[in-house]
Amino acid sequence: MTDRRTELADNLARVEERISMACAAAGRPREDVTLIVVTKTYPASDVRLLAELGVRHVAENRDQDAAPKAAECADLPLTWHFVGQLQTNKVRSVASYADFVHSVDRARLVTALSAAAVKAGRTLDCLIQVALDAESGEPGQRGERGGVAPGGVMELADALAAAEGVRPAGLMTVAPLVGTYAGRPRAAFERLMEISTGLRAAHPAANMVSAGMSADLDDAVAAGATHVRVGSAVLGVRPRLG
Ligand SMILES: *Cc1c(COP(=O)(O)O)cnc(C)c1O
Repeated sequence: MTDRRTELADNLARVEERISMACAAAGRPREDVTLIVVTKTYPASDVRLLAELGVRHVAENRDQDAAPKAAECADLPLTWHFVGQLQTNKVRSVASYADFVHSVDRARLVTALSAAAVKAGRTLDCLIQVALDAESGEPGQRGERGGVAPGGVMELADALAAAEGVRPAGLMTVAPLVGTYAGRPRAAFERLMEISTGLRAAHPAANMVSAGMSADLDDAVAAGATHVRVGSAVLGVRPRLG
């Protein structure tokens, strides 16, 4: 059996190769795209190995798992991203370790994150999660897996810009499993880029585009994503849904 460090190094090299090839194909410099490794369901020991292997950005989707892991890894030079659906009662904890929150999808969350960030004396970079499966719905409608309909993005960005302790950093999406974009991740990510263009016209600093996971990171890079969130391609297939 190969040891875990070698396994992670090999997987990282393969993902790096995919990102480089997708960048080259799209005529984008490699440094345009940041790899975020999603470590959910995997132990702090893996996070430590990843840091030793040069990973600088990690993501988690459940505060119960993320908080102790971030505490155990506090000595490492890591930036923590929170990418899961977020309940307001978890916001205070998340604001204590997360640098980026990718899942802002309602005004109530902006208020809660702002209050928690101010209390913690921190500034949180917030991405608005867009539900492309709610495309034809009412503005403010949310998708199956969280996220606000495209028509609700600007209002949330304005709220983030106006609130203390938080700032609008960009957009995030998960390729929809249902609706017009089901099975069409490239089209979904291109739609996200259009929404990003509109957002950046009003909030130029909100230029992050977080899109693409293990299965579709190539499509996301082709469409223009600045951040890809990769879990299983680096750590292995998760034993349970996370
Ligand atoms: C789990 C997760 C990922 C990573 O998914 P993989 O398919 O394992 O690469 C990315 N984004 C979010 C929001 C996730 O929950």
